[in-house]
Amino acid sequence: NTFQDLGLNDDLLRAITDIGFITPSDVQAKAIPILLEQDTDLVALAQTGTGKTAAFGFPMLQKINIDSRTTQGLILSPTRELCLQITNELKNYGKYCKGFNVAAIYGGASISDQAREVKRGAQIIVATPGRMKDMINRNMVDISKIEYAVLDEADEMLNMGFYEDITDILSHSPKEKNTWLFSATMPKEVSTIAKKFMNSPVEITV
Ligand code: AMP
Repeated sequence: NTFQDLGLNDDLLRAITDIGFITPSDVQAKAIPILLEQDTDLVALAQTGTGKTAAFGFPMLQKINIDSRTTQGLILSPTRELCLQITNELKNYGKYCKGFNVAAIYGGASISDQAREVKRGAQIIVATPGRMKDMINRNMVDISKIEYAVLDEADEMLNMGFYEDITDILSHSPKEKNTWLFSATMPKEVSTIAKKFMNSPVEITV
């Protein structure tokens, strides 16, 4: 039960060795092989602190085309702190993926700086819903070609009233993408969003 067994590439395995992760966590062992091998939607019931950032981060890093500077992945998270934490983890995981760029989009900071970061050629955007919607409406980001969308802490995002922002954001993305939803709890609102935006998702619980 090693990261090598999960099918991750050498650039990612090197980063994992540097970081010091030895054994995949439960959610990583379950989600990573599915996401690498299948083009599928996924619903994962997983608490925070279980290693879920790497569970979606590694597969997304492996599946995007880093030779292209098109935005291919979008990760929505409820708070600025979580957004920055995910961004930093992705930078760390992708440190040997030459040409990889990630942009963080969140409220309370300069929108033009963030637009510049996106323009630099971010293959992945990590965002909070309010600022993301704002930047889409101002044509500062283009998610019309994304292939992967993550709804992280979906229950928290819905508790915070982001349902309409999420709906609005995803309406600007292609229908054919894969959506990976992570949530600590599965209230009716979360299953509603899963039904609305996802196509026979694989379900995992940790
Ligand atoms: P997360 O649930 O993604 O917020 O991760 C919680 C913490 O666990 C983070 O500090 C990660 O760096 C750490 N972590 C994630 N995966 C592993 C792993 N396989 N082995 C050890 N630590 C990990």
